[in-house]
Amino acid sequence: MSKKLLYFAAVILVLIGAVFFVSKRPSQYNQTLNNNKLQVITTLYPLYDFVKNIGQDKVEVTLLLPPGVEPHAFEPKPNDVMVINQADLFVYTGKFMEVWAEDILKGVTNKNLKAVDTSESIKLILSEFHDEDEPAGSSDPHIWLDFNNAQVMVDNITQGLVEKDPSNKDFYLTNAVSYKKSLKDLDDKYKTTLNTCKIKEVVYGGHYAFGYLAKRYGLNYVAAQGIAPDSEPTANNMVSLVEQIKENGIKYVFYEELTSPKISQTLAKETGTQMLLLNAAHNVTKQDQDNGVSYLSIMEENLANLKIGLECQ
Ligand SMILES: [Zn+2]
Repeated sequence: MSKKLLYFAAVILVLIGAVFFVSKRPSQYNQTLNNNKLQVITTLYPLYDFVKNIGQDKVEVTLLLPPGVEPHAFEPKPNDVMVINQADLFVYTGKFMEVWAEDILKGVTNKNLKAVDTSESIKLILSEFHDEDEPAGSSDPHIWLDFNNAQVMVDNITQGLVEKDPSNKDFYLTNAVSYKKSLKDLDDKYKTTLNTCKIKEVVYGGHYAFGYLAKRYGLNYVAAQGIAPDSEPTANNMVSLVEQIKENGIKYVFYEELTSPKISQTLAKETGTQMLLLNAAHNVTKQDQDNGVSYLSIMEENLANLKIGLECQ
């Protein structure tokens, strides 16, 4: 073989290698083409877990929030927007939680993307407590903390999955029925347990996340902050919480996940009470993920803590 021919052969080999390398490079787009799974992007952790339970091995679910990130202050980065733009399904809580979602959806060029607003046909409640910077009359976005609402959210997600992938309709519907049964059982367990409590006041050293849960089970819920954990509680508000703890003979205050528990610590110190976690499950940490937590396991733990804190049977 001449030198010139050898050189030519080497160039051809390098080109073939380059084409092979590019085609094998993993990307969101390639995954869609290669594994035939529906690409689903979710915003908050409960939605991620609902989609996983309904879609199982037929879907590839991505949680947009990085592990441990508090979601009220979250805004998608250009890369997140690109990921949404390449998906089949985008599942979000509703416009009061992901205030950025409508603008992003308007800008999406992927005409095959289906957006699922899981709050559809859920009756939102007005949040009863507001920070000074939150407008009165805005709706409480924490709909997943009512297990009846959670079942409607599951239905909305299932409808989206069926629309994008009708060939697996029966699979999605069967899984949805089974998951909704778990939610119904959880609801029954909460009802039975919370009916027996000596204390009916839930004092929360965090933001106003459990309004739906309190309403469903007839509890009185007071929180140090409004519907987002974005401002310091006022001195008046802290004084009023301390008074409620003392008046009602409360022995435990509850603190929230993913943020510093310093408000609860202050309340506990001031009143000689102890602290218990009440986890609203907006998002989970890497450690939670590694430990295999789920929306249902978090809610079971919450009930166990409520049982202690509210002195239930
Ligand atoms: Zn929240």
